Amino acid sequence: MAVQEYFLPQSLEQALDLLAEHAPALLVMAGGTIAMPLINEGISMPEKVMGLRRAGLDTVRRENSTLVVGATTTLTQLAHQTDIPMLQEAVRHIGGWQIRNMGTVGGNLFAPPPAGDLAVALLALDATVVLASKQRGQRALPLTEFFTGFMATALAPDELVTALHIPLPRGKMSYIKYGRRHANTPAIVTVAAHVVVEAGKVVDAHLALNAVGPHPIRARRAEQVLRGAPLNAATIAEAAREAAAECEPFTDAIATDWYRRRMTEVFVRRALERIMG
Ligand SMILES: Cc1cc2nc3c(=O)[nH]c(=O)nc-3n(C[C@H](O)[C@H](O)[C@H](O)COP(=O)(O)OP(=O)(O)OC[C@H]3O[C@@H](n4cnc5c(N)ncnc54)[C@H](O)[C@@H]3O)c2cc1C
Repeated sequence: MAVQEYFLPQSLEQALDLLAEHAPALLVMAGGTIAMPLINEGISMPEKVMGLRRAGLDTVRRENSTLVVGATTTLTQLAHQTDIPMLQEAVRHIGGWQIRNMGTVGGNLFAPPPAGDLAVALLALDATVVLASKQRGQRALPLTEFFTGFMATALAPDELVTALHIPLPRGKMSYIKYGRRHANTPAIVTVAAHVVVEAGKVVDAHLALNAVGPHPIRARRAEQVLRGAPLNAATIAEAAREAAAECEPFTDAIATDWYRRRMTEVFVRRALERIMG
C-alpha cells in the first residue's frame, strides 16, 4: 500500500501529539536517506509518514561544557561545529555530499551496521541521548544504554529522539574508518577512541567500534587494559588484541567476520598509536 498520509509538524509538541495519536502506524522520517529507499523498493510500506524537518530540532549549541546537538541536525551542519574535531572527522567519512546534506545525527543512531559511523564517535565521547514522549515527557539515557540489539533500541513507540548531549572531551581523540575505498564506502571496521593521559598514565579511556557488532559498541575490556597503565606500545597491543577478542563481527558482501576481527586489532592499534603521537 502506498503512503496515505504525510504529516509535517512545525514543532516538537505537534510531532509528539501526532505520534501519540498515530503510533505505531506512523513512520518517523528525518533526512529519509534510510527510510525513503526502503519505501521506494517496497520493503517498508507505511500508511502514514511524519517528516521531522520542520519540528525545530536542528540546532547545535554550547551549554557550559556540553555540546547540545538537535536530532535533525544534518551531518553537513554538524561538520560546521568546531568544538569537537572528531565529529567533523566522522562526518567526512559518511556517504557522499548528498547523504551528508540530507542525513541527520538522530537518523544515524538507527542505521543498521555497517552504517552508524557517527554513532560510534558519539559513543566514544560518552554522549547522552534525549528522548521525549507526549505522555511521559523527557528522559535522558547514556548512549550505551540506547542500543539494545540489532535494529533494536530503548526508544518506545511513542518517543522521539530530540537531542544528543555531548560532553566536551578533555583528552585526545582518534577516529579511523576502514573500508574498501577511501570515500563513500561502508565500513569494514570503524574505531573511535578518546583517551585521557595524566602524569604518564591513562586515567580514562573510551574505545568504540562500529561494523563489528549488532550496533556500535564500546570495547570495555580493551578500555580496562588501558586504564591506569602507561600508553605505550605494549599496552596498546594488548588493548587492540582485547578489542578484537570482544567484538562480534559478522560476514556480509564487504568482508568476512574473520577479516573484520583481524582489522579490528590493526585499526584499534593504529587509532591508539595516533593518540600516543
Ligand atoms: C548511499 C548511502 C550511503 C550511506 N553511507 C553511510 C556511511 O558511510 N556511514 C553511515 O553511518 N551511514 C551511511 N548511510 C546511512 C544513512 O544515510 C545515515 O546513517 C544517516 O545519518 C541516516 O539519517 P536520516 O536522517 O537520513 O535517517 P532516516 O532515513 O530519516 O531515518 C531512519 C529511521 O530512523 C528513525 N529516526 C530518525 N530520526 C529519528 C528521531 N529523531 N526520533 C526517532 N526516530 C528517528 C526512524 O525510525 C526512521 O525511519 C548511507 C546511506 C546511503 C543511502
